[in-house]
Amino acid sequence: MEKFDAIVVGAGPAGATAAYLLAKAGMQVIVIERGETPGSKNVSGALLFSQVYSEIFPKFWESAPLERAIVGHAITFLGEQTSVNLDYRDLDEGHVPHNAYSVLRARFDPWMAQQAEDAGAMLMPGFTVDKLLQENGRVVGIEAGGDALMADVVVVAEGTRSGLLKEAGLRTDEYHASDVSIGVKDVIALPEDVITNRFQCLNADEGVAYTCVGHTGGVEGGGFLYTNKDTLSVGVVAKIDAVYKSKLQPHAILNEFKAHPFISRLIAGGEIVEYSAQAIHRGGVHLIGQLYGDGYVVVGSAARLLLNNVMTLRGMDVAVASAAAAAKAILAAREMGDYSHTALAGYEQNFKATNVYKDMVTFKDTYPLLENERLFHVYPELAGAVLGDMFTVGAKPSKKGLKALRDDMRGKVSLWQMLMDMNQIGKGLVR
Ligand SMILES: Cc1cc2nc3c(=O)[nH]c(=O)nc-3n(C[C@H](O)[C@H](O)[C@H](O)COP(=O)(O)OP(=O)(O)OC[C@H]3O[C@@H](n4cnc5c(N)ncnc54)[C@H](O)[C@@H]3O)c2cc1C
Repeated sequence: MEKFDAIVVGAGPAGATAAYLLAKAGMQVIVIERGETPGSKNVSGALLFSQVYSEIFPKFWESAPLERAIVGHAITFLGEQTSVNLDYRDLDEGHVPHNAYSVLRARFDPWMAQQAEDAGAMLMPGFTVDKLLQENGRVVGIEAGGDALMADVVVVAEGTRSGLLKEAGLRTDEYHASDVSIGVKDVIALPEDVITNRFQCLNADEGVAYTCVGHTGGVEGGGFLYTNKDTLSVGVVAKIDAVYKSKLQPHAILNEFKAHPFISRLIAGGEIVEYSAQAIHRGGVHLIGQLYGDGYVVVGSAARLLLNNVMTLRGMDVAVASAAAAAKAILAAREMGDYSHTALAGYEQNFKATNVYKDMVTFKDTYPLLENERLFHVYPELAGAVLGDMFTVGAKPSKKGLKALRDDMRGKVSLWQMLMDMNQIGKGLVR
């Protein structure tokens, strides 16, 4: 029976990174990916934050298929007929790499898998791993399409819907439906120069990212719009229990978001070239799943690793950081000739030493915010109303800001409630 040093299940960012680092260190690695090509099953936004990538794949920006360098990030509060934009632009053209890039996963994931192959890993696309094989409670390989493959260690990198551990009776960390969201996304084609001009970019290498809160389709969650070269990625991530309660279909939520006058102006004239939907864990340090066991490690979103701090949604760099931490532990285990859970425990310590983990701890108090309905249903509308009062010269006398705020709050939120919410926002994002 064929035996490898390591089997990696899934060629997303986590799996490709683990395979790359293990193969580079001389291990015999096979990556099994259910898609016909890596990335073909992926739905991600996607904004790729550079820092972690550049540590693992130096100068990745010179060869990776990136769409646009993201020079602008905006948080947009959408009222029913208003928008209030907090728009940050980094106008220093000298940055290399940029803080973030937009990518299309169908193009980007094959590039990552190629890095692993170039380092010596073997890629087997078009095969689904059906189960983990065990001997005396220890994972010793996998079964795919009726064939068994054995390995010293298995890297479980199969993404959010990870079911292999559960099927093997190894999953010890159940989670609640309220910890899962659904992401739906359209890719909308528009000419390159239209995108450049419409989003006030200098040229086709520059792009922007909008995160939207408020009227993003009628259920709690958030919307996003990212500029690619000649497409826009437009989507909504909504809490699955809120979607269920609303009785709306996910694509209806996305359509409502796209029909908002702020978004419809930005996508006007575009043609939908792709539609996709995928479950996504809500993330956060409190939700981190099982990371290792006898003969296996779990990396990326299979271990529910994701950071959502309202301003940014980070899954890819978190996945890469976790895979690098796991690879380091596997290489140490190889030195000891011991792949038991005790030997692989170094993965957790390595991961906890990363900035990604530290960021997850820093933003741990953001998660209660995501449960605060007023953040979605009251404040975006209120922000538009107050600014509307201040900018509008109408038939009634003008008001100063505080008076406008008190008048617009009436019947919607009490001063006391608002102070409590500001404290919650402060705790989550500011102090
Ligand atoms: C709508 C949406 C928007 C997002 N936006 C962003 C963003 O802008 N920035 C960001 O950083 N993150 C974003 N994310 C999160 C990001 O997509 C994930 O965190 C990231 O892809 C996790 O990487 P991974 O390698 O762990 O898993 P995945 O990327 O899901 O890769 C898992 C791979 O395993 C394969 N696989 C699954 N099961 C098997 C099996 N049994 N056998 C073989 N292969 C298998 C899959 O085909 C897939 O290729 C977004 C997610 C969604 C849903």
